[in-house]
Amino acid sequence: MSILTYALHYEGEFNKNSLGAVSEGAKLAEELAEELGGEAAAVVVGGEDLTDELCATLGKYGAAKVYRAKGPEGLAQPVVDVMAKVVQDNGFKYALFGGGLLGFEIGAGLTARLGAGVTMEVTSVKAQDGKLVAERPILQDSAIVDVGYVGEPGIIIGRLNAFDIAEGGDGTAEVIDVDVALEDHSTKAVMVQRGEQRGADVNIEDADILVAGGRGLGKPEGFELAEALAEALGGAVAATRAVVDAGWYPYAAQIGQTGKTVAPKLYLAAGISGAIQHKVGMQNSENIVAINKDPNAPIFEFSDLGIVGDLNKILPKLTDAVKAKKG
Ligand SMILES: Cc1cc2nc3c(=O)[nH]c(=O)nc-3n(C[C@H](O)[C@H](O)[C@H](O)COP(=O)(O)OP(=O)(O)OC[C@H]3O[C@@H](n4cnc5c(N)ncnc54)[C@H](O)[C@@H]3O)c2cc1C
Repeated sequence: MSILTYALHYEGEFNKNSLGAVSEGAKLAEELAEELGGEAAAVVVGGEDLTDELCATLGKYGAAKVYRAKGPEGLAQPVVDVMAKVVQDNGFKYALFGGGLLGFEIGAGLTARLGAGVTMEVTSVKAQDGKLVAERPILQDSAIVDVGYVGEPGIIIGRLNAFDIAEGGDGTAEVIDVDVALEDHSTKAVMVQRGEQRGADVNIEDADILVAGGRGLGKPEGFELAEALAEALGGAVAATRAVVDAGWYPYAAQIGQTGKTVAPKLYLAAGISGAIQHKVGMQNSENIVAINKDPNAPIFEFSDLGIVGDLNKILPKLTDAVKAKKG
């Protein structure tokens, strides 16, 4: 076995970010088939909702085996205990995480526990000379460095949603139960309540369509235009830091370096200039459409479709057109 990927689930579903990481692990294991044996695995920690059927679905994303351990879901330390044992017992050479706050916490804990090497905020991983090399942006994303590993295991923590989901048919993963005695300190924290941040009634990281608003919306009420379009499209609303800092929209919706990283099918940016710190959070979107009144706005440099004009006129028309089309 070669690469072990952590998969987070909640209410009977694996999250999108984890599925991207599992797919990436499988792809890399195949690329290094000669050196690593070709098979990747996933690890899951939770309770009764982690059924055989649910775990086996990770095979669709390329996992050959799924190691399943009992423990509290959503807390870092128990997962560190489980992963440390699975890595050591099976000689995994790499551990991969999709990122997110939990991924960072577990990855850091596992690194400390195993005395391993770690790279965080990884945006891409490549196979080179029989080993994995992680690519990581530095200096406010103005340059990218290659990070190699000496010794084993190598821990790779991706940036949220950096890895694409690849559903490769009807593969079924073998589910293996592992019995892990959790450390005393790992059970000190308990999940009391799960909650969403204020204003985050839609999970923008999982939305397929995002209508993002920036300072070009003019005032807080300008977001009503973005909300109407998002509703018509069946998507969610996102925002830039400038408008979040100004109190126009909740922080939970902020995309970018100090906000969330997203990769929806459609990212419609309205009144957003396209600053590098915003770009890094949305550049992996499948289709980027920008509306901006300035033809020289940087956002047009990385948009698939650019509309030069006043969003106050364009957004309502677009909303009406979408509604008409949907009948
Ligand atoms: C360390 C650091 C971290 C940061 N992190 C983030 C981050 O996570 N996310 C983030 O977004 N930013 C971040 N920023 C801020 C970032 O640099 C930009 O300031 C910010 O993204 C700009 O937001 P904006 O595009 O809404 O505003 P502006 O840059 O002011 O752009 C507004 C755009 O709207 C257009 N416009 C105006 N009126 C109209 C109209 N009527 N119709 C159409 N278009 C119109 C203008 O032409 C302009 O291009 C960070 C900055 C720093 C230094």
